[in-house]
Order: sequence, then C-alpha cells, then structure tokens
Amino acid sequence: MPFDAGSAQRLVWPPRATRARIATKNGGRGIMRIVLMGAPGSGKGTQAKKLVADFGYPQISTGDLLRDAVARGTEFGLRAKSAMDNGQLVTDDIVLGIIRERLAEPDAAGGFILDGFPRNLAQAQALESLLAEMGTPLDAAVLMDVEFEILFKRLTGRRTCGSCGKVFNVHLMPPKEDGVCDGCGAADLVQRSDDKEETISKRLEVYQRETEPLIDHYKNAGKLKVVDADGDVEDVYGRLKEATGLAGS
Ligand code: AMP
Repeated sequence: MPFDAGSAQRLVWPPRATRARIATKNGGRGIMRIVLMGAPGSGKGTQAKKLVADFGYPQISTGDLLRDAVARGTEFGLRAKSAMDNGQLVTDDIVLGIIRERLAEPDAAGGFILDGFPRNLAQAQALESLLAEMGTPLDAAVLMDVEFEILFKRLTGRRTCGSCGKVFNVHLMPPKEDGVCDGCGAADLVQRSDDKEETISKRLEVYQRETEPLIDHYKNAGKLKVVDADGDVEDVYGRLKEATGLAGS
C-alpha cells in the first residue's frame, strides 16, 4: 500500500505526562526530534545508543526494525529480506509502513532519534508529511561525516555478539579474546549477512546515489548539522552533542 500521510492518525502529540517525564529525564532539554544521517559504518547506531542512554530519546532504526521483522518472519520481513541481503534499499512502502507504526508508539511522543531513515528523497518527503500531520517538526538532521576508506574498514571488521548485542570491530576494536564477547563471555561473535565485502560495496554505492542527495535537502531546509564522525567514539559523541545543543546536559 502506498504511503498516505493524510491517513496518518491524528494524535495529541505529545501527551502532557510524557512531555513532563522526558523533560525530567533529560535535564529539562525537552523534546528533540533528530534524523541521524550517514553512510553505513559512520557510527550512527553507536552514537544513537549513547543519546538513548543519556537522554532517554528512543532510537528508531529502520535497519533494526527490518532485521527484527525478518527474524520474526512477518509479512514485511519476508518482503524485505532479499533486498537487505543484496545491499539494496527495501521498498518505500514497507519502510514507511514500519516507521509510521513505530512513531505512533507512546515513547516516541517525547522525541526520537531516527537512525537510517530517511534514506532517499521520497522517504524524507513522506516523513515531513507525517510529522506535519502530527504537528511535530524535526529539530535537526545530523550528518555523521566519515571518509570512504574508513567506512570500509569499519564495516568489514564489524562483529556483533549473538547473545548480548555488543558490537566489536576486528580491525579497530577487537575483543580481548579472539571470537569471545568481552561483555557476556559468549563465543558467538557474528558478522551481519550484509557486512560481507561485496554487499558492503553495494551498500556504499546505494548510499551515494540515494541518500547523499538528502544532505542538500536538509541544508536547504536549514536543518543540516555536520559532525566529524572520525575518531574516538567519545570525541565524536561530544561533537554530536555540541551540534544538537545537548552539550553540557
Ligand atoms: P542499516 O542497519 O541501517 O544499515 O540497514 C540495513 C539494511 O536494511 C539496508 O541495507 C537496507 O536494505 C534496509 N534498510 C534500512 N533502512 C532502510 C530505509 N530507510 N529504506 C530502505 N531500506 C532500508
């Protein structure tokens, strides 16, 4: 079914109780709606998790939502799987269906961090319609900026613990013991099926073609913030907080 922002549920957004709870949790910073953009491997997911831990905004990752749908064998998941395995974008109707459902959940009422969405202009425009309908415009679109060679290393080396989800990099941040998770001790470090070299090249190509045009889109809308995302995770996090006005919180 094509995305239809007009049919999006009208919500009282956000409920007063949620607004108060979030404001307390994040030191009075209030509601923050951010798009976190960047090529695969730019560290969006890692940085989003840090914002979640410190400020309580939910991280909404379409990649995670899609992987979950694939694992559960839902209709969306079955339709998304082959595009994901091939490093291609999943069709907009699937992604927009998933994102619309997710944004309607109560925890998104106090703000959110969109990670990996939107990935093309059509998705960005659909997001704008949906948020306009809800009366909740974006605060910022943050570009996590990293050179291509570094991205490649980050992606080919990435391993995730199958038990606790901790992320390692065999080139840049290896576990203390080869193949064993430092966090939970499980010998279950796995490479995502779309982190294989040939799929990575395709994903980077798709990013350049489909997603990079969003940089100008958000620049023209006056929402773009660029963060140098190379280097130590904590340094990058400091720059991200600075760019989004969360520094010092
Ligand atoms: P990610 O974890 O964000 O790198 O996403 C993994 C894969 O999920 C991508 O390579 C795409 O196949 C699919 N995907 C995630 N987000 C989107 C999106 N916004 N639009 C289309 N496909 C997506």
